[in-house]
Amino acid sequence: MKNWIKKISIVCMALIMVVGVTACGSSDSGSGDSGEVYTVATEPTFPPFDTTDEEGNIVGFDMDLMNAIAEDQGFSVEFVSYNFDGLIPALQSGNADIVAAGMWASDERKAEVDFSETYFDSGVVLAVADDNNTINSVEDLTSDMKVAYQVGTSSMDVAQQLEEEGKIAEAVGFDKVNDAVQAVNTGAVDALLNDKPVTLEYMNQQPDIIKIVGENVTTESYGIAVQKGNTELLDKINAGLKNVQEDGTFDELLEKWGLAEK
Ligand code: GLN
Repeated sequence: MKNWIKKISIVCMALIMVVGVTACGSSDSGSGDSGEVYTVATEPTFPPFDTTDEEGNIVGFDMDLMNAIAEDQGFSVEFVSYNFDGLIPALQSGNADIVAAGMWASDERKAEVDFSETYFDSGVVLAVADDNNTINSVEDLTSDMKVAYQVGTSSMDVAQQLEEEGKIAEAVGFDKVNDAVQAVNTGAVDALLNDKPVTLEYMNQQPDIIKIVGENVTTESYGIAVQKGNTELLDKINAGLKNVQEDGTFDELLEKWGLAEK
């Protein structure tokens, strides 16, 4: 019996050595990569920040930004998709290390997760069907109307407040922004609340379906989130963000994703 244990432990040690040598070999040939792979969670119906390409890969400004930060800081990232209201729980449970999802670094969320320096100023706008000539701003909403929002977002807060105040009949939640846009298109709802650059991108991708009316309803700034207390990772993200902002990479990515003027 003892011999068996000895043999198994020798095999195990040999395996560990082989794996160890392989890992060392690859880091020697690379660009100082630490070998850390962090899981980045996002919600991919939020173009141009978080979306999917024709092959179903998660792509967007946030993904390019995370890749640039990772390269700068010598780690790797892989992207996973969640509903928006599942992102903070994914961090809290340890299923994800990072959230990059056009997420407002709000005081409310800062009680649950830690945020990087903010990287984009945004805000919620109201959109209606392209041929709607009666709703020209939030003030034109009436107590018989339905307004769509994405579940768990800042738009949800605005929509639910309108409902509570009796200014609309119903705030209607959707997990995916494209389904909310579609609901406006079919007339299932009267209007949609969502972030301005994303609404503009839907208008760009599908012309003549929806249009923005009125001024920004709220203002907010996006940050990259990590689990509360993970200062080691947050420091890397902030250092990388600063570097890619200073070396021009950040501006190139804004340009690439049509966000330079938004
Ligand atoms: N910026 C909004 C928020 O943080 C919506 C984000 C999103 O839908 N990806 O609540």
